[in-house]
Amino acid sequence: MSAYAIPPAPQATLPVRRSEALFPVRRIYCIGRNYADHAIEMGHDPDREAPFFFQKNPQNIDPTGEFPYPPETSDVHFEVELVVALKSGGKNVALQSALDHVFGYALGLDMTRRDLQAEAKTSGRPWEVGKAFERSAPMAALVPVADCGHLDHGAITLHVNGALRQSGDLNQMIWKVPEMIAYLSRFYDIEAGDVIMSGTPAGVGAVQRGDVMLGRIEGLGSLEVTVV
Ligand code: MN
Repeated sequence: MSAYAIPPAPQATLPVRRSEALFPVRRIYCIGRNYADHAIEMGHDPDREAPFFFQKNPQNIDPTGEFPYPPETSDVHFEVELVVALKSGGKNVALQSALDHVFGYALGLDMTRRDLQAEAKTSGRPWEVGKAFERSAPMAALVPVADCGHLDHGAITLHVNGALRQSGDLNQMIWKVPEMIAYLSRFYDIEAGDVIMSGTPAGVGAVQRGDVMLGRIEGLGSLEVTVV
């Protein structure tokens, strides 16, 4: 007799560079407005806000290098981000030990139905319809900390069809990686398999079918995604 009333959905995973083993993803937390210049371009004051997070679903991860133009929008934006993957966690994680929980890092895109997100903001509704849709989180393979170290500085860029669109440095994050882990652990049980998308620098913009997005993070690598 089966243990499940219906067949369970497959475990969401990320590939790990130079490994056959897959990283099982439990939750995806995404921080908003974590680079001052992006906060300003979205019309906010970067100095006045505590951090805030929304979530994507693990099943939104897409390692295929193709991003299907999603339904019910005419304004899909790219946001290139450093992804932090955790191998352990806890409640009330201390700032000093927060990085001990990091398994590795990856480059990810927080694809956003900006028109639907803007409607949600205006009407005081949740952001999920703009953020947590099918294949909205293209991601590259995870790089273990042993291979890349902890990434607290380095260029983060996104080109579309060869033209530079987003450019920043990881050292411009308002809330640093250890601070995000410690902060989240005050509100949630942080556990192995949790993933944090750490925000995007300025220059976000729309893409159309056929566009090729190329993200790069110094010390980590690149990810090319075609809009189909
Ligand atoms: Mn984002």
